[in-house]
Amino acid sequence: MFVGHYGVSFAAKKGDASVPLWVLFVAVQLLDFAWAPLVLLGVEKVRIVPGFTRTNALDLYYMPYTHSLVAAVLWSAAAFAVYRLAARGGNTAALVVAAAVFSHWLLDLVVHVPDLPLYDDTAKVGLGLWNRPAAALSLEAAALFGGMWLYFRTGAARRLAMAAFGIVMLAIQVYVFFGPPPASDKSLAGTALAAYVVFAVVVRLLEGPRRNAPAA
Ligand SMILES: [Zn+2]
Repeated sequence: MFVGHYGVSFAAKKGDASVPLWVLFVAVQLLDFAWAPLVLLGVEKVRIVPGFTRTNALDLYYMPYTHSLVAAVLWSAAAFAVYRLAARGGNTAALVVAAAVFSHWLLDLVVHVPDLPLYDDTAKVGLGLWNRPAAALSLEAAALFGGMWLYFRTGAARRLAMAAFGIVMLAIQVYVFFGPPPASDKSLAGTALAAYVVFAVVVRLLEGPRRNAPAA
């Protein structure tokens, strides 16, 4: 999953409005934020195999450190600790951040073909929605805009700009699904990392500094 993850970021604002959206944007993609540099370093591995699934060409055959269930739990726990201690967020806020991190694995589980190990590099799972293009795209859109709708109900400002941003993200998702495959594993990782950073920066600009919605 790609842009659908951000629906969780928006929805999480209902859980604790004190957590900035950009933090939640990083949290829901934290596993991929770790995955991209590890692919660039050759530690985790992906092969570009055109036609590998009906929506993308990614044979994600080795990613034990970022996308195993055990790793996802550990990354979520680390995110809790960092947000609780370094960012001095409250317990609820840190729990929301940790849940956002873990949501990545659950949503990936729905769309990935069986490439997500339960632990290490074994017992791989994935429900394979990537092989049903219409359903996969619908889920990305429903997750993104469903989450955004919940966020709007918290009384968030700049809804029009945020909705436009969502449409741009969805357009990028369409390109990822139906455009040409990435040139290489490294270009895929580099482009993905750049997209995650840009999305987090854009949402930081849209939300503004410390715009805390009133408690819902
Ligand atoms: Zn992922």
